[in-house]
Order: sequence, then structure tokens, then C-alpha cells
Amino acid sequence: MDDAPIERLRALVRHATFSHEGASRSAEALAAFHDELRALFPLVHEKLDREVVGSGSLLYRWRGFDKRSPAVLMAHQDVVAVDDDTRWTHPPFAAELAGDGDEAAVWGRGTLDDKGALGAILEAVEARLHAGFTPASDIYLMFGHDEESGGSGAAAMVALLASRGISPGLVVDEGGAVMSGLLPGLGPTAVVGLTEKGLMNVELAVEQPGGHAAIPIPGGSAAVLARAILRLEHQPEAPRLIDPIVGLLEALGSRIPGPRGWMLRHARTFRGPLARIVAGQSPLLAAMTRTTRAVTQLRGSSSRNVVPELATATVNVRILPGSTVETARADIVRLIDDPAVRVRVLEGNDPPPVSRAEGPEWEALVASILEVFPDAAVAPYVMLQASDARHASRISENVYRFLPFDLRQDELDTIHGIDEHIRVSTYRKAIAFFDALIGRL
Ligand SMILES: [Zn+2]
Repeated sequence: MDDAPIERLRALVRHATFSHEGASRSAEALAAFHDELRALFPLVHEKLDREVVGSGSLLYRWRGFDKRSPAVLMAHQDVVAVDDDTRWTHPPFAAELAGDGDEAAVWGRGTLDDKGALGAILEAVEARLHAGFTPASDIYLMFGHDEESGGSGAAAMVALLASRGISPGLVVDEGGAVMSGLLPGLGPTAVVGLTEKGLMNVELAVEQPGGHAAIPIPGGSAAVLARAILRLEHQPEAPRLIDPIVGLLEALGSRIPGPRGWMLRHARTFRGPLARIVAGQSPLLAAMTRTTRAVTQLRGSSSRNVVPELATATVNVRILPGSTVETARADIVRLIDDPAVRVRVLEGNDPPPVSRAEGPEWEALVASILEVFPDAAVAPYVMLQASDARHASRISENVYRFLPFDLRQDELDTIHGIDEHIRVSTYRKAIAFFDALIGRL
């Protein structure tokens, strides 16, 4: 078997392309990464138009022979930080190849998120160019440089395409994957994100007279703030099933026998009771049924013996489609029900629109998935994390969030964690998926 794609992936992973605040050497790392891409994928750089956008995002245009609406394949160049590399089985930027047979894997930060997709896209394009292939429609490759810290690069590239009047018929970015055992006994399911949750950070602030801790006044700012936090904690939003999750349950139900499968296949009819059942299964499933609120930061006095005048908390809110920044903020004010607590939106974006699970673009995506993963059921879902894809909703109605990786739960858990790695067989299938998709564009 051809080892060259694996060696090229290893070369990509060796670059520590951090984008988070305070990351040192990130500009140099990104420049070196760009040089690496040129060296590894010469035909892509010879035949495609290439623009550097923002502080290092890359936009490629592969010209098609027809004037159909273009497609966009997205991935990001940056990776998240590594807190403690001594806990990794293999060093995070050594890109070691380890294991035998189906367990052979490339280890390192970014193998799954998201250099695996970036490399697989480039492999597929390079091979097609080598074979003399020209796509019918234009294909853009959009590789952000700061997805993990806000996605300004993707926003800038989308704005550039918008300014040129380009409206892609299809956008594919990271998101769901091919997962086994979503429910006990269930075969592989390819989950494709039709939308993602909105994101909002809210500051709760309480200002009361402070003073010396030796003579405290009852009802200080810390206590009022704590009461507000507990009111949010004790009043989670009632679960509800939005359309993409109904679609997910229907797809799962089609593979489950007996009354359980029957109920799932009729999820649309049993929305109410099913929402409560689904929310009770796990924190992951619960997060798909409601807007969630997590307190992430607390601030009070900087001294051990000074009662704070100002106590604040940051609440990280993930907004379910159907709600907005404004309604989610209003809910928080209503639940806290205390004029002493100031509620201020620090930043936020509404959930992007829900893409359709039908039409020719969706069919092309599903056919490409089934070509490579013939045993998989394809199902829609809602991505819980924010991604660069949200920007693309500005210019396209068909934005799908899917990583063509077959992943086990233990592998999924390594994303943003320790011991991130991708199996060689998984990476080869990802290349085959993008090749199949390109053949349909
Ligand atoms: Zn990512």
C-alpha cells in the first residue's frame, strides 16, 4: 500500500500551528506550514489559484469547466494547545507512527482536529489533478488559520467570496463523524451536522458594599451571585426535539427492532415524551435538546480578608436553534429574577440556519459517504461545538458538518485532549471520501 499519504500527514502534524492567545512562534509555525503544503502538494499549488487571507488563512480555487454553483471544502490549519505533553503516550508533535494492523495510527495534536481533514482534502485533489481531472463546478478549498480562537480567517474568506457574488451550492466542514454504538447494539452511523448551536458569553455582576471580612454584612455580593447561579442550575431549560434531532432519532430507529425502534421511527409524533427520555440518557444527548448554561469563571475579591464589592461570573451559553442570543439572555434574566444581578452579553451569535437533509447536494454527500462506509446509516444532527462552518451560512444554504472518519468513543475523547491520534485505515477512508465527493461535483 502507498505510504506516501501517511508520511505527508505526519509532516503536517509536526508543525505546532497554535492559534490561541499567547501562543509563541505561531506566525513562524504557520509560515513553515504553508511552505510544507507547497512542497507536499505541488500540483495543487501549480494548478489552483491561491490567496492568503487575513493573517494566514488559505483560499484555493480549482476552476471547473461548467458554470454551476461552486462547492467549498473547509478545514482548519490551527490546533489547540497541549497542556502537559508528558501525559501523552507519544509526543504531540512527533507524529509517530505506531501500532500494527488496523491499530496502526499517526499520533499527534491535530491528527483528528483538523489536519486529518485538511490533508485528506489535499490528497484527493492532488491525485485527481495528477489524473488530469477537471471538476464540473468550481471547487474552493478554505483553510482557516484560527478556528480554535474565533475563526476570523474563515469569516474573512467568506466575506471575500460574498463580495465576489459567490454563493456555493455545497459547503462541507468538520463536524459529525461515523460513529459506532451511538445506542447499544447499533451499527455505524454517519452523523452530519445540519446546523450548530449558537454561542454566547454572559457576565453576571453583583455590586454591594464590601468591607472587612471581620465585620461582614449579610447579603454580600458573593452570596447574591451564588444564589443567582443556583437558580440557573436548578432550572434547566425544558428539553425539546428540533427537526435535525427528530431526523437523527428516525434514522437510528430504522435500524432498531421492536417497540423501541418503532417509537424512534415515529419521533415526530412523540416529540414531547421522547425529548424527556433523550435528555435523561446522557449529558451529550441532553445538550442536543436544550440551550445549556455553564458557569465558567468566577471573580470576587483579590484578598482573602476583603469582602468583594463586585462579584462576577461568566456563563457560557450554547443556544439551541430556534432560540436566539436575545431570547436566551431574556431567559437568564427571568430565571435569576433579581434586579441586584446585572446580566450583560459579552459576545454572542445566533445559531446558523438549518441546512436541508434533501436535494442534490445532500444526495451527493450521502452517496459519497455510502461509497466509503457502505454499512453506515446517514443521519442528521446538530453540532454542539462552534465551527468555522457557521460563517459559511452567510453565503450558502447547504452547509454540512461532517468529518469522514470512523471513530470509536475513546478516539473521539482525544479531540482537544491527550493522545489524539488517527488510525491509518481511517485516514485512507477519509481520502477516499473526498475523492468520491469531488467526483460528484
Ligand atoms: Zn476543529
